[in-house]
Amino acid sequence: VLIDRIAGARVAGADGALADLVLGGGRVLRVAPAVPSPPAGGAATVLRAGGRAVIPALVDAHVHLDKAFLLADAEEDGGPPAPDLGAAIAAVARLRARVSLDRVRRGAERAIDRLIANGVTAARAHVEIDPAVGLDLCRLLQELARARRDALALQLVAFPQRGLEAPGMPELLAAAMAEGLSVVGGCPYVDADPARHLDLVFALAERHAAPVDLHLDFSDDPGRSLLPLVVERTRAHGMAGQVTIGHVTTLAAMPPDAQARALQALAEAGIALVVLPATDLYLGGHGEPGSRSLAPWERAADAGVRVAIANNNLENPFAPFGNGNLLQAAWLAGLTRRAAAPARRRTLFDAVTRAPAAILGLPPHGPATGADAHLALLDGDGDGPDVALRAPAVLATLRAGRLVHALAGPPIAREGGQAETTTDAGASR
Ligand SMILES: [Zn+2]
Repeated sequence: VLIDRIAGARVAGADGALADLVLGGGRVLRVAPAVPSPPAGGAATVLRAGGRAVIPALVDAHVHLDKAFLLADAEEDGGPPAPDLGAAIAAVARLRARVSLDRVRRGAERAIDRLIANGVTAARAHVEIDPAVGLDLCRLLQELARARRDALALQLVAFPQRGLEAPGMPELLAAAMAEGLSVVGGCPYVDADPARHLDLVFALAERHAAPVDLHLDFSDDPGRSLLPLVVERTRAHGMAGQVTIGHVTTLAAMPPDAQARALQALAEAGIALVVLPATDLYLGGHGEPGSRSLAPWERAADAGVRVAIANNNLENPFAPFGNGNLLQAAWLAGLTRRAAAPARRRTLFDAVTRAPAAILGLPPHGPATGADAHLALLDGDGDGPDVALRAPAVLATLRAGRLVHALAGPPIAREGGQAETTTDAGASR
């Protein structure tokens, strides 16, 4: 269903007044004070917000669709997996041999549905490339990305989860990029020679003029930090603004001055940070009850680092509690860092909307004139930053002005002439 107008929406910056959003051509054409009766003119499909908040659609900067919903399989296979990175990687690697590609496809489709239902209209998905799966997952995800592109824009990362040291791996990663994936991924901590891993990743990215997105520093031991190696290569390749690092839980375990220096270096090198609360808090922080294991996102933002908060995994050994809900991930990140001040809430809100959109290189979106009409209607009247306190339900998701998800609830009306019929939004998909 293409929506022509959203009526009676609460949007940021309107000083509490309700607004009507006129949509067309996939964009927000106009944001105007709400009027009780529709303007005269042609027929229009109207989504009645009823005073609820309309925010920019959420963007997930880091998610794995090709191992979503494998928790039950892992439990069947080897018992409940331990909350430990090595155990999670091993559990999923074992499952690759016994879980069919069809089963993986169903998990990925369910994850895509879950993201859309949670207000996400764009995501960067890491696709596993390794000798056991070859390019199977790459092709599967490319197919799903095409099939679902009206609802979710997927940017695919070639991701060597088990490193680049197995025979043929550098060639396989290069082949995945040649197949059309958009971003070169990396996981240097699984290799004996992480510097060589990084060299291969940056060289491949340069060849394709592609961004780099690394799983990095996923450990409680700052002595094993690879941050200096990444900063050095980002500079050497002139890739400021094109490099993103996920996890970086070592930051949480660093003494304060080392942490401040590391954040400064990231800001100066133009490297973005993605924290993944549902995984970082589950797998890391053993023996560190004070700091736990979430990178200090608020200090990173203060230092000038672009920060996103993302899902990483849904119901699998890496994140049994991963539920695809980015607003809840922001809520959890705020709670864990005890960062509740209004400025922090703005950072949290940006970390699931504008910052990840910038990481993906997307144009501006949201309830503003001229922006792309990727929008989420929330169950609540809190606009903007306060949603991080409440993590309200998403009632409807719009991508390019099209209603791509709706809980039964927000009424849609067909207006024009004297007739007006209300349809059930829940039946639209
Ligand atoms: Zn990940």
